[in-house]
Amino acid sequence: MKMNNEMVMFGSDEAAHFQTGLSGWVSRHGHFWGNDERAARYDGCTHTYCEDCGKPVDRGRLICPKCNESRDVKRYAAMPKEEWYEVGMVYSAATDKYFSSWDEVDEYCEEEDTEIDKLRLVICEPNYLPLLADDYGCDELAEDGELPDGAIQAIDDFNKAIKAVGAVSWYPSKKAALAPEIKE
Ligand SMILES: [Zn+2]
Repeated sequence: MKMNNEMVMFGSDEAAHFQTGLSGWVSRHGHFWGNDERAARYDGCTHTYCEDCGKPVDRGRLICPKCNESRDVKRYAAMPKEEWYEVGMVYSAATDKYFSSWDEVDEYCEEEDTEIDKLRLVICEPNYLPLLADDYGCDELAEDGELPDGAIQAIDDFNKAIKAVGAVSWYPSKKAALAPEIKE
């Protein structure tokens, strides 16, 4: 092996040599893969087999969209379920949409001609803005130093204001959302 910056002339034996007696797997693109049939086939193919049903699937994927959907359905069916009383939001992974009320959900189903069950709704949990912690400034204070009263008051006010803001966004939890029994 030559060091990276050493010169190899076009006409030298090192630049290339004529090889006889080579055998091995060559992909559609002409790449030589030796005994690695799997790698050669992967290099040369556009589709592989779905892990679940064996049908052709884009080679970057493990399973086909249909099997992916049925895995999602199974996963959703296995989730714990809870009635949702329109606190916060629910999220539909099937449509990548958030809803803030059952009316919105119903409206969407009507517009898109689909059913609630197909949305696979999960209850969302709130994200809050971060508060200032008790140890605020501890790296800057003297070892047994304490925050000045004004700073303590300011932190208190700040935290109160932030708490009053409430949730600023929502993320899907692992709980499936059930419509409460009594609905008009
Ligand atoms: Zn499949």
